[in-house]
Amino acid sequence: MQEKLQQLKNEALPAIISVKTAEELESLENKYLGRKNGELTELMKGLKDFNPEEKKNFGQILNEIKKELEESINKKREELNNAGFAEQITKEKIDLSQPCLPKKESGHIHPSSIVQKQLEDLFTSMGFMVLDSSELESDYYNFEAINIPPTHPARESQDTFYIKNHENWLMRTHTSANQVRAMEKYGAPLRMITPGRCFRNESTDARHEHTFYQMEGVVIDKNINFGHMKAVLETVAKNLFGPETKVRLRPKFYPFVEPGVNGEVTCLLCGGKGCSVCKHTGWMEIFGAGMIHPNVLNYGGLDPKVYSGFAFGFGLTRLVMLKYGIDDVRLLQSGDLRFVKQF
Ligand SMILES: [Zn+2]
Repeated sequence: MQEKLQQLKNEALPAIISVKTAEELESLENKYLGRKNGELTELMKGLKDFNPEEKKNFGQILNEIKKELEESINKKREELNNAGFAEQITKEKIDLSQPCLPKKESGHIHPSSIVQKQLEDLFTSMGFMVLDSSELESDYYNFEAINIPPTHPARESQDTFYIKNHENWLMRTHTSANQVRAMEKYGAPLRMITPGRCFRNESTDARHEHTFYQMEGVVIDKNINFGHMKAVLETVAKNLFGPETKVRLRPKFYPFVEPGVNGEVTCLLCGGKGCSVCKHTGWMEIFGAGMIHPNVLNYGGLDPKVYSGFAFGFGLTRLVMLKYGIDDVRLLQSGDLRFVKQF
């Protein structure tokens, strides 16, 4: 055994010293110290066949050789690294007389994303999850599961783009399509917002666009009432438009809530006095909301006798237009850099 060890040491050390590349060094390291089948490792495994006295003796020698080999390998590795670095330095030359390269243009966040992120920050600070969902959606989640059956007149105002030969698939018309998906996935209690792109098949003008952004919010728990909803909506309005902002709720029909409201805030341009933007009413409509309809809770697998909740939706695109005073919605998706660079 002792002889074997001496032989291994005499062979390994000069081999390590004479390697020229990192790959060679690695294969040597494997050959002697590799966890599987390394020569030294195998000898160590064989120790168990010796008597205690020999085991102690050989074990000590083995450890010493192992240490010696490791040190020698590490030293060589450092040497090779330094040599590589020196070689790289001599190859790279810096030409100080070279003229400065033109500055690369860097991008920035689109105004729609700025407003979306601001709202996401606000809602996460109130304990809401931010959920994503697909833009291509089934008829079931976009309409049926939120209380808009095939014959419902609400479908009339939400024509969209259907997938050829797959009539049950469409480009979602609102982020409400994620309500029942979220209930199915997370159950109750639930506190989530879901921002994203929505689509409508309509002719475009300064106020209408086939592609736009919405943000939906849902809160479900035991004993959730209208007061909770108003508090959340007021917090959002004040965050967006300043602490003086007031919120007004007026009854409005949406198929997936009962009762439903149309949420208005004091006009941020005239402060409520009346101007052309608010059509001289002093109020601007910015969201729809209401208590989630029992049918929708049922579709989401939640018992409406146990749970109640509210849902709200913002037209994110509309908020962006109000915030930045943009008078034509088509500019936002135009890809026109002259427009986007202003923000
Ligand atoms: Zn106004």
